[in-house]
Amino acid sequence: MNNFLMTPIEYLSGVGPMKGELLKKELGIYSFKDLLEYYPFRYVNRSEFHEIAQLDGQQTQVQIKGKITRFRESGVGRSKRLTATFQDDTGTIDLVGFKGASWIKKSLKINEMVQVYGKASMFNGKWNISHPEISKINPDDRKGFQAVYSSTERLNTAGLNSKGIQKILVPLLEQLKGQIEELIPENIRIDHRLMSREKALMSIHQPKTEEEARNAGFRLKFEELFFLQLELLVRKKITMQKSKGFIFDKVGEAFNDFYSNHIPFELTGAQKRVLKEIRKDFSTGHHMNRLLQGDVGSGKTLVALLSMLLAVGNDFQAAIIAPTAILATQHYESIKEMLEPLSIEVELLIGSVKKKDRKPIHEGLKDGRIKILVGTHALLEDVVQFKNLGLVVIDEQHRFGVAQRPRMWKKNVIPPHVLIMTATPIPRTLAMTFYGDLDVSVIDEMPPGRKSIKTMHKYEDSRSRLFGFMRDEIDKGRQVYIVYPLIQESETLDYNNLMDGFEAISRSFPMPKYQVSIVNGKMKPEDKDFEMNRFVKGETQIMVATTVIEVGVNVPNASLMIIESAERFGLSQLHQLRGRVGRGGEQSYCILMTADKISRDSLKRMKTMVRTNDGFEISEVDLQLRGPGDLMGTQQSGDLNLKIANLAKDGGLVSIARDAAKELLVNDPSIEKEENKGVRSVLSELLKSRPNWGRIA
Ligand code: ADP
Ligand code: MG
Repeated sequence: MNNFLMTPIEYLSGVGPMKGELLKKELGIYSFKDLLEYYPFRYVNRSEFHEIAQLDGQQTQVQIKGKITRFRESGVGRSKRLTATFQDDTGTIDLVGFKGASWIKKSLKINEMVQVYGKASMFNGKWNISHPEISKINPDDRKGFQAVYSSTERLNTAGLNSKGIQKILVPLLEQLKGQIEELIPENIRIDHRLMSREKALMSIHQPKTEEEARNAGFRLKFEELFFLQLELLVRKKITMQKSKGFIFDKVGEAFNDFYSNHIPFELTGAQKRVLKEIRKDFSTGHHMNRLLQGDVGSGKTLVALLSMLLAVGNDFQAAIIAPTAILATQHYESIKEMLEPLSIEVELLIGSVKKKDRKPIHEGLKDGRIKILVGTHALLEDVVQFKNLGLVVIDEQHRFGVAQRPRMWKKNVIPPHVLIMTATPIPRTLAMTFYGDLDVSVIDEMPPGRKSIKTMHKYEDSRSRLFGFMRDEIDKGRQVYIVYPLIQESETLDYNNLMDGFEAISRSFPMPKYQVSIVNGKMKPEDKDFEMNRFVKGETQIMVATTVIEVGVNVPNASLMIIESAERFGLSQLHQLRGRVGRGGEQSYCILMTADKISRDSLKRMKTMVRTNDGFEISEVDLQLRGPGDLMGTQQSGDLNLKIANLAKDGGLVSIARDAAKELLVNDPSIEKEENKGVRSVLSELLKSRPNWGRIA
């Protein structure tokens, strides 16, 4: 049967070389199998029609039978539009926004009976359907509940519109009856009430009822996610078995002393839990690769420090890498201060450290005197050699610079353990899937007593009140960030806005009473650092900046974050920016300034920000709005090649499928039982065919 399914598509009855070529080019359908897995994107009930007179805006999608009575063209060039007047026995409606307008005009005749499908909305007192699907009424058509496939203009022209695709599926499904192998073991099928594979593949294309289509979809999504997760788990297991890691079997004096005597507060439950997870990793003899997620201020750094002390207590060295010199310096200063009573040698290595000062650091690392090194990526250079590096912590890694991992691994005979910390939460289901080779820990609890940041969404007409509010905050001795968007496509314009904003602020907040800093990407790094430092030290009260401040500086005295043109930022970026305030004891505020008219998605982003401070909740909304491709970078999601499941919409199912895959591995670790034969064959194909993108990520 497998061979049959691999038959080139042109050999299917009703296809042939010409259509076959088009199917390959336009939809990537090369074989029978590809067609079988070309799932419909929705269904319609072809026996139910609406009447124009009854439209009331309540129906989400409508299907109407009638005729086009005339076409009108308006506008010129790119704004040229085609409108059709469509009539049934009860009224008229406009059809607008055609894809492939010329084709529509050519192939549809005035006064011919057709059916249209789409979303009806009211515009200027008249109903219209934009981007309607239009098809001729053919008495031979199957009635009732039907699958709808997406097609393209070229395929349409060749007779392969949605209906055409339906038609070529008929002989394929006919031949497949009784031939489709089950791949999911029976116990899992029973547990999750999955219909058989054959039934699902038939029903997804030719369901009799909506419920049948839904159940078929569920079964196929489950299968897809189940095999994806199983593959990830197995890959991870393989890497794990191959990898060797240092064992830190002692708690050690450094940790004990610091933990019992020098932390002025109780660790949160989440911090304790994560620390336990890390300690467990240190004891396995395998290499740790752990992602630590937690909102800004949730206390990740402390967990990192305690982990480093575990390394030190076992006679290893540890290093922490921050993305910028300023951040590294802040880490260095706070770690040095905290470790003061312990007499543990800590050093800082960043680009600006002079040559003559580097030498002793290099020596100290080599002879093991320096236990903890804080720095930027500079510390990955080959000249930096350790005596015995056991743990590397990477802080605030937005995108995974995993290219750096191999460089770290060279720092010792056995690669040091790696802990990656990020304040940009990724929904669990995505983390599970995209960081397949990482273990994920989450700090989902804030230290007690934090005041949550108050967020407001304002429009231009509140500007003068906003300035008043800024003055009040500054009078109380606080500091203010004002952030402007900057993207490549509109760089010049964005810089102009930033400079205009800076001038306006400088006029309204004049020297000498007020000092205003500006930082942007065009400045030299030293100048940026200089200005940033003035703000950190409190010499300036207002920081006007592009998103360069996004990454983690700590200015506890800053209590007000104003984000200009906030509608142009993504949700996670907004959340990240907001995290720059609320770090001290004072009530902090975040003001989102937007244009008066913004899109629905933008409004949803603003509302989400106003509603919640929870990074995980925000990342879920972000996922819904943008889809996993955008969230993770398209390259990665492209590699997943999911045919029916959707990581954004089917998040719950991802976890269920993963649990089922885990359970299978517990019961049959090397997948050799008879009942798992199907699973084994799919898996071995997957392991052969896909590059290990968990590593490439
Ligand atoms: P993150 O790195 O996650 O942004 P930090 O580790 O910098 O957060 O912690 C933010 C602040 O909270 C620091 O001043 C830290 O000392 C403090 N902190 C950390 N853990 C706790 C705790 N359990 N109770 C009280 N304060 C804490
Ligand atoms: Mg931090």
